[in-house]
Amino acid sequence: MPTTIISGTFLRMFSLKGKRAIITGAGSGIGQSTAIAFAKQGATVSLLEINIEAANETVEKIRINGGQAEAAECDVTDHDQVQEVFDKLGADHGGLDCLINNAGIAHVGNILNTDEKDFDRVMNVNLKGVFNCLKGGVRQMVKSGGGAIVNIASTVATMAINDRLAYSTSKGGVLAMTYSVAKDHLHNKIRCNAIQPGRIHTPFVDGFIAENYPENQEEIFRKLSDYQPLGRMGKPEEVAAMAVFLCSDEASFITGSPFAVDGGTLYVR
Ligand code: NAP
Repeated sequence: MPTTIISGTFLRMFSLKGKRAIITGAGSGIGQSTAIAFAKQGATVSLLEINIEAANETVEKIRINGGQAEAAECDVTDHDQVQEVFDKLGADHGGLDCLINNAGIAHVGNILNTDEKDFDRVMNVNLKGVFNCLKGGVRQMVKSGGGAIVNIASTVATMAINDRLAYSTSKGGVLAMTYSVAKDHLHNKIRCNAIQPGRIHTPFVDGFIAENYPENQEEIFRKLSDYQPLGRMGKPEEVAAMAVFLCSDEASFITGSPFAVDGGTLYVR
């Protein structure tokens, strides 16, 4: 645990002790690592998941290590269900301090071969899902007197790679919403930032390689790893660490900013 000395006193940096956090899509990958990291730093974590079994497994992992967590079944695309879940969690915990909008799905395709149904599905989960949770989360944070939000976007929100038409569009929208919420709720003491992960090795990546490149999965995995200047995929814990920092008091002067966790993909080509 990093420590710093101020006036001769050791202070624990990046502590989330006493903070109440909601993390979406926390049954797998980046969301799971973020839930574990938040609990380790002292937060009470509520995991919102469409896959409740997976979320319960994460909760078990946290509790075994002495952390505080619970899971709630929730489809982030369902506006009314999301508002109900946020109201219930807000009432149960007496407020909300941190929200990580992480739930998302992948899609491969260009403008010609992305059909309308797939475009709507990606926008529904990746963009409207964030809208729904921001609405629930900001409402609770206004009541709580402030908070910190982290939206998980992607490098492709601001750069082009082939065959990510719908996915990139959804993540560009997530960045735009991040700036809007940061601006609109300055006076509510709500900070809102985004993370732009590069390729992170999670079931999300394995799933889309298996689905889209079943013939040459190993070759594609190597190619996707080599694409990043640091020569590998990131680990979910490396994204989780950025989310912890952005929700900690050490990040109190940071709002409306995107942070790349991408092995140099955006700026070191
Ligand atoms: P992951 O391993 O697939 O985890 C995503 C989780 O979200 C899954 O548990 C999934 O449940 C859940 N989920 C999906 N739809 C949902 C819905 N409608 N409501 C609630 N939960 C839902 O993905 P990941 O790689 O950790 O990615 C997490 C986020 O990072 C996503 O927003 C993704 O776009 C972003 N990201 C990932 C990468 C990467 O390389 N991994 C790069 C850039 C950005 P099911 O498993 O049941 O679908």
